Amino acid sequence: MKSKALLILLLICNLGLFAQRKSYIRNDVDTSSVVFKEIYHFWENYQNDLFKKLILGDTTINTNKYWADSEIQAYKSPDLILNSPSIYYLLPEYLIGIEKRNDTLYEINSVYFSNYSKNPEIVIGFSIFVVQTLQGYKLYNAFTINKSEFHQKKLKWLQIYYPDHYSFNNDNANKLLDRAQKLASEWGLNDISPIQYYLFPTYTDMLASLGISIGMDDFVSINEVRKRGFALNDSRTIFYTQNGEELLHEIIHILIYDLRGKNQNSQFDEGVCSYFGEHLEKPYKFHAERLKNFLQKNPQIDLGISLIGAYLDDHQQYSHDPKWKENSSGEISWFVDDTTNYMYIIMATICDIAYKKGGMPLVKKMIIEAQYGDQMYDVIEKNLGIKRSEINAYLRNYL
Ligand SMILES: [Zn+2]
Repeated sequence: MKSKALLILLLICNLGLFAQRKSYIRNDVDTSSVVFKEIYHFWENYQNDLFKKLILGDTTINTNKYWADSEIQAYKSPDLILNSPSIYYLLPEYLIGIEKRNDTLYEINSVYFSNYSKNPEIVIGFSIFVVQTLQGYKLYNAFTINKSEFHQKKLKWLQIYYPDHYSFNNDNANKLLDRAQKLASEWGLNDISPIQYYLFPTYTDMLASLGISIGMDDFVSINEVRKRGFALNDSRTIFYTQNGEELLHEIIHILIYDLRGKNQNSQFDEGVCSYFGEHLEKPYKFHAERLKNFLQKNPQIDLGISLIGAYLDDHQQYSHDPKWKENSSGEISWFVDDTTNYMYIIMATICDIAYKKGGMPLVKKMIIEAQYGDQMYDVIEKNLGIKRSEINAYLRNYL
């Protein structure tokens, strides 16, 4: 997953905690229809329940009751928009409308905006489907409807799907399977459950398959062909843009999930996936060289303060000088540019140190013990003997 989306997500998250859900309906929509009222209430109740469960922590709420059983079976966490990742229900909603598609099928289309900056921003826009059943209305992902059109290719436990206009390379897919099997067996994972692997020509196509017409970080950069990938661990589903059949990164996320036996992400995971796999299609060595230069050009970074990000100063240099904390743009930023997410490569460097010191057993041990945020320093000290006070000099030297 890419950090810009995460950053936006964190921003929204901070705001959302204090917000009450708001929903507006477009003027032209016929709100007098009985069916409209029923479906609209059903959809708003679902989102209100998401808010109560995920933000207010009400554990008695069951949001799965809104979903068709087949969706729960297919994805476990059935809301793929929520998994994309987006926390849309925190944002004010502008309902574009609800359209009938056949006797029992309806399509809801909404956009979500944020007014945290001066200008209102549309953050995400998507469609989701509702089916009228004997048990009442039930939600369906747009993806479930769209994916039936894809080509299929089965390579052992890797089930690959791609649309007509994707150029698929069979040799690369076979090489990927071999690499994945080799790593899995080194981790003692010999019986891998099937993984669904979806490939798309562009990021926009990927989002469209999920029903997303306005994506959080789509159409924001003109200088690169977007490379994207993400994994839904619960449903063992991977999404990739063009050339995804060469890339091991997201498969490793799922192997880590299998190794831990639970879904508990840590930032170290990104390092492991970028070290044994790749990061934005390039190997660790390529990014390690860039990290070395990046740290030299940003001498104010102190990795003993954070391994994850720093403040941006007036010259767009990264710094841990606390004076920038007071700046309006002084919230912690990820170490990131167009080619490298440096946080990923700092973690990959820690993975490299572990691998050279204790081989795969030590890497495995650290994957299992890895913690989110500052607690990771203790895991590093315990396993690698590098103290928090020494890590800045150590990593700069090591590179
Ligand atoms: Zn990743």
